[in-house]
Amino acid sequence: MASTDNKLENAISNLKKESLRITEPRKALLKLLIDTHKPLSAEELHEALGSEQYDLVTVYRNLETFEKAGIVSRIPTESGKGLYEMNDEQKHYHHIICRHCHKAEKLDECHIHELEEIATKLGFSNITHVLELYGVCQECR
Ligand SMILES: [Zn+2]
Ligand SMILES: [Zn+2]
Repeated sequence: MASTDNKLENAISNLKKESLRITEPRKALLKLLIDTHKPLSAEELHEALGSEQYDLVTVYRNLETFEKAGIVSRIPTESGKGLYEMNDEQKHYHHIICRHCHKAEKLDECHIHELEEIATKLGFSNITHVLELYGVCQECR
């Protein structure tokens, strides 16, 4: 597994490839995303960064930028709010996310194949899917 520094370097070189500026707030946000092992909302990231230094709008904007650059994934939640995490080397997986604390486990298997076949038979191509599971974790029960 790559270390935090390697991951940060990778993310920064991706930003550079997209001709995006590497600012201190962006670096701090990337570092936080790399060190956090569960998806967080913009508000949670903002709080963890120290809300004095960075305003929430900047956090939102940078997350959007990272998402467009393919560095960060946005996971939709039932409430409509997005949770953010670093992209994991293009590996395909889904999550089970705790509604209360946002603790997330990765589900390595994907069983959507059958549905995709049905969709293909209906004449669709370039089929993708978004699937996240929600529940209440052991600690929050
Ligand atoms: Zn929980
Ligand atoms: Zn899938």
